[in-house]
Amino acid sequence: MTNMKDEITNIKSTYREFFLKFAGELNKCVYDAKPKNVTGEIFDKYEENSEGRAWQKSILKLIEDGIAPDVYKKLVTLREYRKNNKFSCKMCGSCCKLAISEFSPEELNEKSQNGDNFATQFLSVFIPYETEDEAKKIYPEYFELLKTEDKVYYYHCPKVTKDNKCSNYDMRPQICKDFPDNPFSFLPKSCGYKTWKDEVLNDSLKLQAMAEILEFYKSKLK
Ligand code: SF4
Ligand code: SF4
Repeated sequence: MTNMKDEITNIKSTYREFFLKFAGELNKCVYDAKPKNVTGEIFDKYEENSEGRAWQKSILKLIEDGIAPDVYKKLVTLREYRKNNKFSCKMCGSCCKLAISEFSPEELNEKSQNGDNFATQFLSVFIPYETEDEAKKIYPEYFELLKTEDKVYYYHCPKVTKDNKCSNYDMRPQICKDFPDNPFSFLPKSCGYKTWKDEVLNDSLKLQAMAEILEFYKSKLK
């Protein structure tokens, strides 16, 4: 791995592999359980007392009682491990002073209006830098690491103080409390959680992919 661009590409492709693998496994499981008399697909609309609906309910139960609890328990364990004494925030302020997104403020706004919770939270915290040069001045080295050939947008939080503290710590939003649990978070090498992230990255990507698929099934089958 030579730079952050390679790291990002690697993370995305690993996530995609886990996603497709688990989607395939779950799909097999779903169709192995399909009653012979049902001709439709798992996400079709069925009458409440039909065999099709019973099939959907059995899959929902399998997910809610059988698969999801284990996935979420493992995710919690990974996140608890980050909070042990081995890892800690070094108060460098990078994650508050320089956040990147592949989306412009307008695109994030649109996503937010369409119910994207992450976009809503992101916009509640970060504002865009007026120019790339402004972002570069904050952390030239980090900026270079983050630079990609794709267009990205640079943001910062106005609530971070000059000594890299959060001026609204007790009221900081969930997106800040969760940082850097998301395996797609970008961490500078100096970040106190970088070792944790690298150590758990594969498990974290796998569990995140599984959680995303399970949530999709739950929302469709309920
Ligand atoms: S980048 Fe890491 S070490 Fe720096 S402030 Fe954020 S969490 Fe703390
Ligand atoms: S709200 Fe606080 S923790 Fe969150 S990005 Fe801003 S300064 Fe950092």
